[in-house]
Amino acid sequence: MQNVSTSDRTTPMPALSQKPPGISNMESPMSKTLNNSRQAAYRAQAGLCFYCRCAMWTRSSIELTRSYDITKQQAKRLQCTAEHLRPRSEGGSDLPDNIVAACRHCNCTRHKRKIPRSADEHLRRVRSRISGGRWHPREVLRVMGLQAPEVPQRDNPGEI
Ligand SMILES: [Zn+2]
Repeated sequence: MQNVSTSDRTTPMPALSQKPPGISNMESPMSKTLNNSRQAAYRAQAGLCFYCRCAMWTRSSIELTRSYDITKQQAKRLQCTAEHLRPRSEGGSDLPDNIVAACRHCNCTRHKRKIPRSADEHLRRVRSRISGGRWHPREVLRVMGLQAPEVPQRDNPGEI
């Protein structure tokens, strides 16, 4: 376990490029078209994830850890990825009209299912989770301004 302090604000560490286990569907080299579509979407969305509306980073997680009080570990899930609204497996293209920018977490949770949810379904699910104080760690939701206003924490048995 690594104890992340605030001291890495000024001294960026060389990235060790560890790959989280279990994520394999995004390791294929990104085509130029896809990369361009992602960048266009990232700009159009003002750098926010299509699903969870969290700020994302593109080149280095330092972009986020510098601006927000989150750890490198927490920032990992917020890497900007190209998300196919219509999955590739269903013939979705890499062109801009099929690509939005989504954080790694939102993207992976949708596509790791055998039959991915539709983008709309996933969007609803993510938003509902977030309004219940879930989806991302609470600290992340808080710094991103997504935490529900001061309500005493209570269980929400109705939530799936
Ligand atoms: Zn997201």
